[in-house]
Amino acid sequence: MIAGPSGAGKTTLARHLVETFPEAVFSVSCTTRPPRGSERDGVDYRFVSDDEFSGLVASSHFLEWAEVHGNRYGTSGEWVRNTLAAGGSVVLDIDVQGALQVKSAVPAAVLVFVLPPDPAELGRRLSGRGTDSGETVSKRLSAAAREVALLGAFDYFMVNDSPGSSRLRIESIYRAERMRMAAQSWPREALPYHAGAGSGLSAWKGKKVVVCSGPTREGMDDVRFISNRSSGLMGLSMVNAFLDAGALVTMISGPCRYDAPPGSVPLIRVETAHEMLAALREAVAVADLLVMAAAVGDYRPKVCTPGKLRRGEGFLLELEPTPDLLVSLDAPCPVLSFSLEYGPDYRERALEKMLKKGSFAVFVNRGDVPGQGMESQTNCGELIFADGSSAQVAGGSKRFIALAIAGLLGERL
Ligand code: ADP
Ligand code: 5GP
Repeated sequence: MIAGPSGAGKTTLARHLVETFPEAVFSVSCTTRPPRGSERDGVDYRFVSDDEFSGLVASSHFLEWAEVHGNRYGTSGEWVRNTLAAGGSVVLDIDVQGALQVKSAVPAAVLVFVLPPDPAELGRRLSGRGTDSGETVSKRLSAAAREVALLGAFDYFMVNDSPGSSRLRIESIYRAERMRMAAQSWPREALPYHAGAGSGLSAWKGKKVVVCSGPTREGMDDVRFISNRSSGLMGLSMVNAFLDAGALVTMISGPCRYDAPPGSVPLIRVETAHEMLAALREAVAVADLLVMAAAVGDYRPKVCTPGKLRRGEGFLLELEPTPDLLVSLDAPCPVLSFSLEYGPDYRERALEKMLKKGSFAVFVNRGDVPGQGMESQTNCGELIFADGSSAQVAGGSKRFIALAIAGLLGERL
């Protein structure tokens, strides 16, 4: 997303990206503003009436929309999702409020804020464009101060001074972001280094997989909660692994730092164990596999006090158990569960839990061994199947471990 005040050079930079990178596609926004200069309908904007725009808002057509300088502008959600799912990079020329709306809906989106070298130059560029009246130019200049106030919420800042160096800056951001692991599938070139890794992955093509991830939160009052140290990274890694394998993935996630990859994954956000159970009931009805990588809290405060509990002398917090999700769910599809265990008899306890929960397989890892479990970037462990067979999963990044687990499961199912 390229944002910044009107006249900063967003359109010029967005067009440059689209002309330079074959997979980059410009998002044609809807607007209620009339066409200006040589603008063409369907190329620069989709020009719509006020009533048409209201209809599109009512039918949830927009990923975001905003009123900018007296007109409404909006981005088509379905088009963005489809383009991302097909491997494209979506380039948005967008106002500052709209960019922040997209960031909260799609946290992996990249925000670039552009400014000319100084306000006088911004004025010259707005007037020099020769498409806006004096009144429009001064309206847009006075909006710039309000827009710059939101700059701190962006990922990148660049000055648009000379055209040549600005093109290099925006290209550098684009190139670096495309190489981020979070933005791509597992590199094909990295697979042959791990003998046998992911050989069963092809079994997942077109299959429906539900991944449940992250911790749960149980409120004490409207401000405080009890939770656990799950970062959500193992769940997100499982989502990526099944996506890489060509599965259709739905993600259910408790509140955590890691979010669904952009585009092709429906994300259902939940907070409590009860909410997670309700979301699971709906999602697993048509699933081919449930991956239960969430760390569901076993207890919740018996009472959640409205408002904020006052600081005092201390008090007793009474807890009650939450439901065992897999037991309550009795999923109609095979289940892969995760078991984090401490102490020497960790394997027996994992097996016992797997049988109680009726899982098809359990991935057991240890909380008392460095480099495994919650809050770690890496993991290793053992995948144990209900028929008693098992496979060791050697250490690596969680993203790689997830690929190995998905491959091993694919060989069995
Ligand atoms: P925005 O999309 O942010 O409103 P534009 O891309 O339409 O801005 O640019 C505003 C005007 O400034 C245009 O006339 C454009 O040709 C010109 N412009 C863009 N980048 C530069 C630059 N680096 N130096 C000088 N003029 C520029
Ligand atoms: P202009 O009328 O100069 O083409 O655009 C005015 C402003 O609207 C610019 O800041 C531009 O980035 C922004 N804009 C264009 N399309 C969209 C959109 O789909 N959503 C939002 N929120 N802003 C947009």
